[in-house]
Amino acid sequence: MSKDAVRARIREFIQSGFLPHPLPRKVWVGASDGRTCFACQELIERGHVECEVVLASTILAHLHRACFDAVMGATLEDEGQRRA
Ligand SMILES: [Zn+2]
Repeated sequence: MSKDAVRARIREFIQSGFLPHPLPRKVWVGASDGRTCFACQELIERGHVECEVVLASTILAHLHRACFDAVMGATLEDEGQRRA
């Protein structure tokens, strides 16, 4: 999935309220055990760095490091637009 497509998907999640805004402060970073990335829907290869974010009490999102950065960028962008 292209970076633009990932960003568009993340923006949809923010607008629909599926992605908490602002994002929870707790983020776990560790080695992947081979899960699918929440943002780009591609495999996070086993042993690669993954970020975990709690979306709700029972929903945990796993993200590539780069996709996590895209989520942070999109949420900050959204916050800036709300303040403007
Ligand atoms: Zn990803």
